[in-house]
Amino acid sequence: MPSLSNKTGLIVGVANKRSIAWAIAQAASTAGARVALTYQGERLEENVRELAGDLTDPLVLPCDVTEDAQIARVFDEVERSFGGLDFVVHGAAFAAREDLSNPFVQTSRDGFRLALDVSAYSLIALSRGALPLMEKRGGGSILTLTYLGSERVFQNYNVMGVAKAALESTVRYLAADLGPKNIRVNAISAGPIKTLAASGISGFSSILQHYRDRAPLRRTVDTSEVADAAVFLLSDAGRAVTAEVLMVDGGYHATGM
Ligand code: NAP
Repeated sequence: MPSLSNKTGLIVGVANKRSIAWAIAQAASTAGARVALTYQGERLEENVRELAGDLTDPLVLPCDVTEDAQIARVFDEVERSFGGLDFVVHGAAFAAREDLSNPFVQTSRDGFRLALDVSAYSLIALSRGALPLMEKRGGGSILTLTYLGSERVFQNYNVMGVAKAALESTVRYLAADLGPKNIRVNAISAGPIKTLAASGISGFSSILQHYRDRAPLRRTVDTSEVADAAVFLLSDAGRAVTAEVLMVDGGYHATGM
């Protein structure tokens, strides 16, 4: 496993122990990093604080990514506690339940705006906040999580597919913008995993079964496998990789029929 020792990171998007962001937090901590976790709203605070108890000297902060003031407070606090920042993991995504079950053509303007704001724009806002702290360290690594629904149609993924397409494009533009400062920006496109966010997508179990039947590895992936790939991209082992969408999906993306 690549080392993250002497590195500090901010991880956004932990809801519970099934969250992909939580697996990344654990793997990053095991690899030697000190991490800050955020939670969205008081509802999740206790959960996230309890999970953070497993990490070495963590920082736990509130952050709703639609609130610029909260984002600013997070980076103030991270700077006070860590001095600088080596990596950011962005694992926040949201779409209204009806937009994940109604016909796509019914997607409302507000639903579109909300999904794109939480799931794509927030990567820009977090990258902007991280920039001065990463400059202090001479560079950094920013990582987000996406899904193949950005390129192909999956039943009921709907507006989240559009948001992921925007997110992947955002990765490339940020990578081009921040590369000269030695800040890398990448995404992992994970295969389907049963998490809280996934439970909002009707028919998700049939997507899982389809991957078991069709992916070259004939199975789905788990959060620890995504986390291992994440540690690579966050670490110096990934130092020449940027503007990339790394598929961690058992090879499903390569299949035709
Ligand atoms: P998850 O545990 O539900 O994580 C999603 C996180 O986003 C939750 O912590 C959620 O908090 C947070 N979030 C939503 N709105 C937010 C806001 N306004 N501010 C801050 N945080 C907010 O589900 P997950 O599957 O691990 O998702 C993590 C990422 O992986 C997402 O980008 C997802 O699209 C992506 N992904 C998932 C899969 C999969 O099959 N599970 C596959 C590929 C990619 P709340 O619970 O409070 O809403």
